[in-house]
Amino acid sequence: MILKNRTKPRPLVKLDAAIPRTPSQFPLLAKMKEDAKIRQLGYTGERKVDYHLDNLAQMFTILHDVYLCVNGKNTQMDSVIIANHSIATVDDKNYHGTITFNTLLKQLTRDDGQTEAGFEYPITQVHNQQFHLQNWLAQQNMSQIPVNSYVAIADPSTIIKVHGDEKEIAQTVAHGAAMPKVIMEQDQQLAKQGARKLPHHQIGKKLLHACGEFDIDIMKKYGLKPSAILPGVICPDCEHRGMARVFNGWSCPKCQCHSKNAHLNALEDYFLLVKRTITNSECMRFLQIPTRGTATRILKSSGLTYLPAHKCWIQPTR
Ligand SMILES: [Zn+2]
Repeated sequence: MILKNRTKPRPLVKLDAAIPRTPSQFPLLAKMKEDAKIRQLGYTGERKVDYHLDNLAQMFTILHDVYLCVNGKNTQMDSVIIANHSIATVDDKNYHGTITFNTLLKQLTRDDGQTEAGFEYPITQVHNQQFHLQNWLAQQNMSQIPVNSYVAIADPSTIIKVHGDEKEIAQTVAHGAAMPKVIMEQDQQLAKQGARKLPHHQIGKKLLHACGEFDIDIMKKYGLKPSAILPGVICPDCEHRGMARVFNGWSCPKCQCHSKNAHLNALEDYFLLVKRTITNSECMRFLQIPTRGTATRILKSSGLTYLPAHKCWIQPTR
């Protein structure tokens, strides 16, 4: 069973909301776009691997995107699979071209046909994740459960090469499509050795309860001020910012498309980037609507909660 599905990561949600609302002359805009691209590539790779791992959902308990705080340290695991006799953590990597693991120097290089680049050694990364998960299990009095950690290569066309011990890499690294088999075989091996059967669903529920959500204050990270965030309702068809309020909806002056509720995305952007509450006049300014009455009607029908003491509206907690 899948206990936790993957959703678009919060930092990427925020970057995607911020980029079209950042002034074009902002010095870090190019960096924001580049970072969003890298995060999107990672997210796409993770979903590719999930597609294969989810084949194990009938037998085992799966949690995607597990973010845990153990002994004051945060750790993020792309997927955790609680099998019958062991737990597997999977870290997804999305590289194009040829990757080479050097088992002696603990180094990963990627050659995409144009340049060669070095990356943090994924095996060390997953061993750290394994260590943190084992610490968490120990805190829950489950230290006897075996934990294995793996690296899944998302793109089937990525060529994996090894300098040094091939067997060592083959035990840990595989393409996404091969990963379920690797995990199952390791688990069966443990069964043969007489490992205890795990209440995997119960352990999964405990882990789910302990999960936090990874987030970054992107405004702080890029030095972007809330007052610099550009207002206006963005057209869902042509992405023009500045739809006009018309009877019963919004009209795009650029492509003439009509939308009934394009303001919902704009309000979502406001809460993500500016602040958690909105007043009537802030709504008028951000959605660029001329009358208080229209703003009130929109706020009332947008699923928000009114806080009379503060004369503002807030999103209900998720
Ligand atoms: Zn448009």
